[in-house]
Formats: sequence, structure tokens, C-alpha cells
Amino acid sequence: MNRVILLGAPGTGKGTQSALLKDRLKIPHISTGEILRSAIKNETPLGKKAKAFMDNGELVPDQVVIELIKERLAEKDCKSGFLLDGFPRTIEQANALGILLESLGQSLSKVVNLNVPEEAILGRIRARGEESGRSDDDPQVAKHRLEVYRNITAPLIDYYRNLGILSEVSGIGTVEEVSDRVLKELHKGDQ
Ligand code: AMP
Repeated sequence: MNRVILLGAPGTGKGTQSALLKDRLKIPHISTGEILRSAIKNETPLGKKAKAFMDNGELVPDQVVIELIKERLAEKDCKSGFLLDGFPRTIEQANALGILLESLGQSLSKVVNLNVPEEAILGRIRARGEESGRSDDDPQVAKHRLEVYRNITAPLIDYYRNLGILSEVSGIGTVEEVSDRVLKELHKGDQ
């Protein structure tokens, strides 16, 4: 069973890797960022709550994303596992996820941290912003998102290391190379 979290700073390739891994592992890819962007586009109540935070590169409040994830993980397709991308981003979210999974009689299989040096990250985000037109890829906002990552999200690396389920993977190389490394980590321990 694969219940996996992909951790990493913005611009480390979590989204790209997830798109490949969901096909290779046959599990749903759940990106809170994508769900929120689509809610904003459709002007739903969730989108209205999230928009200002996202535009400014801030985190959307914990209760909002925790509620969203609770609903998403309750869907049928998550019975075979899931790949979380962009959630959790705070210790509070990680605690809430732990409690939720426990109540479902489930546990995480692995947390993969994609490592990319910070110098490389800003360049990647700049390139993506030019392609995707994502407003939070604007260089100033991207810089702020990196700070938020460093201060609030990076402590999750130790959080999951302490739980004994963390794998560190280099995010440098071609998409396929990185994907192979991640899969190797996920299959470790499989018999
Ligand atoms: P992402 O696509 O994962 O880079 O997320 C884009 C933006 O969505 C972030 O900068 C946050 O504003 C918001 N967001 C996505 N996931 C979360 C989360 N788990 N907690 C809080 N905010 C989030």
C-alpha cells in the first residue's frame, strides 16, 4: 500500500514528479495547491477564502486545508493509497493528518523529501512562471514562498525523520532520473 507524502520547497519538482508517480504507482495525486487554484478559478467559497493568501505567497489557514484534505481522503479512489503533494505544510496539518489516518485505521508508508539547492530553485520558479503564468511565481512572491517554506514547512523534515519514515532524494537530474530515485525509495522494504 502506498500512502505517500512528497515534501520539498516550491520549485523542487513535486508537481512534475507527482504526475509521473501517480501513473507508475496507480494512486491518486492530491495537490492542495491545484485544488485551491481550481477553486479560485471557479470562484467557489473555498476559492474566495484562499485567494488573497495565495496571491501573497502566504499559507492558506490550517483549518481550511485540513477540511479540504479530510473530504478528499474520504473519497473512494484513496482506498488504494494516495500521493500528497503540498500537504502537510505545517506541524498542525501534519498532526491533523496523523489523527485522521489513525481514525481510518491507516498509516503513512513513506515521506519523500526532494532536495534541490536554493540557488537552483529560484531559477526553476522563474522559468515556470514564464510558462504557466502562475501569479505566485512572480519573483517577489516566490521569494516569500521560499521564506515561508524555510520557516514553517521545513521543520516537517525532522518531524517525519523522527517518525522513521523519511527518505531524502536528490531532485537534481532529469525528471526520469529523479522519478526512478523516488520509486527506489518507495520500494525499499518491499519483499
Ligand atoms: P503549491 O501549488 O503546492 O505550490 O501551492 C500554492 C499555494 O497554495 C501556496 O503558496 C499556498 O498559498 C497554498 N497552499 C497549498 N497547499 C497548502 C497547504 N497545505 N497549506 C496552506 N496553504 C497551501
